[in-house]
Amino acid sequence: MENGNTQQPSPSTRVVRLDPPSLHTSTILKKSACVRPMRERCFNISLEEIPKKKIVNCYGMGGSGWTTLFGSVGKAIRLLEDKSNPIRVIGAGCMGLTAAIELVRQGYKVTGITAKELYDIASWRAGGYFAFVSLLTSPEEQANLDAIGFETFYAFRSIYEGSHPYLSRDCLRFLPVYGSSRTDIGLDTLEKEGLLPPSENVILDFGAIQHPGYTAHMTYFLDTVMIMKQLGAEVKRLGIPIEIQEVHSWDEIAEETIFNCSGLGGRELNKDSAIIPVRGHLLLLNDTAGKAHMDYIIYTTVEQSHQEEYIYLFPKSSSASSEIPDGFPCQGVLGGSFIPHTDKLTERELMELDEFEFEKMLSRSQRFFYGIK
Ligand SMILES: Cc1cc2nc3c(=O)[nH]c(=O)nc-3n(C[C@H](O)[C@H](O)[C@H](O)COP(=O)(O)OP(=O)(O)OC[C@H]3O[C@@H](n4cnc5c(N)ncnc54)[C@H](O)[C@@H]3O)c2cc1C
Repeated sequence: MENGNTQQPSPSTRVVRLDPPSLHTSTILKKSACVRPMRERCFNISLEEIPKKKIVNCYGMGGSGWTTLFGSVGKAIRLLEDKSNPIRVIGAGCMGLTAAIELVRQGYKVTGITAKELYDIASWRAGGYFAFVSLLTSPEEQANLDAIGFETFYAFRSIYEGSHPYLSRDCLRFLPVYGSSRTDIGLDTLEKEGLLPPSENVILDFGAIQHPGYTAHMTYFLDTVMIMKQLGAEVKRLGIPIEIQEVHSWDEIAEETIFNCSGLGGRELNKDSAIIPVRGHLLLLNDTAGKAHMDYIIYTTVEQSHQEEYIYLFPKSSSASSEIPDGFPCQGVLGGSFIPHTDKLTERELMELDEFEFEKMLSRSQRFFYGIK
């Protein structure tokens, strides 16, 4: 047995025995890369008045768009005063769909959603870990982020309790998450507030390898594919039409009030240079990876080639793409790359980067779960 960490645990530290997924090239169902819409300093929730238009912005939540969903949309809607003006929503990711639904529920008139793309977007591909990670928010914005996070937490808790008005109980699970004690797990604020149980020091035991110096936490894991489907169904039920079209300028929109949930699109539409595309790589696992790893989350930093890299393992049970919008089953997803500014690369450089990252990710995961060097 090999120790993944040299730190000496206290004799009372709980040992958590976990079955890892089988990790070979043959257990990989699909390699997928997608871009997080990240805005530096703070995401953009604001009301902007330009000649003849009112733009409510709600974009740029980076790797925590799901974790900030209901709070962001709620805050953006509270910027509106007049319920009589018809509203056009731009974007059909989790922000756009939720905004359209919540606007109608609160008595606003939504004429429709306009979106460039329905399925090959961050909202469908995302892991579903409820935690504040991969955000570039400045310290001055912490209170703002906390308030948005709490509002979102309460909404997800209501789903878990079965009392949410349009999302069903099986959209999420409450699961343990493990990470090294030097990893920012992104749950501190919620734990301090008593909304999540306190963390605990543990030793992870994967059989072939043990990792002392880890912490155990509890949080929600969201079935993002199921939630996207249910949001889509609610949009349809409310009679909100979706138009597939790229918007290049606000002048193209007939409505005076625009709800801008365009994610990365905010960079061009709002001339917002603070928007940074952050590429993430995912390895979806197939049935031969096993099932025992489908009841826990790993979110941790590890050392690889003298650099701190991330490993995450999420119990994702379905994914979707534009070719298979109804979704297809999988047995978990491995991830852990956050690569900014990939929009500057050529198509060939991007392909090379993706292959390099997939290989690196598999190799560090095999080392982490099995001690394979
Ligand atoms: C690999 C990966 C893993 C992630 N894991 C997590 C996680 O575990 N937990 C978490 O909280 N978050 C996670 N995220 C982040 C989360 O997925 C995003 O923050 C969130 O989905 C953003 O939602 P959105 O609706 O703002 O943007 P998007 O889902 O990107 O949707 C934007 C919409 O706007 C449309 N649009 C853009 N430009 C235009 C235009 N010019 N005209 C018309 N339409 C336009 C797009 O077509 C799309 O419909 C992850 C993201 C990635 C990529």
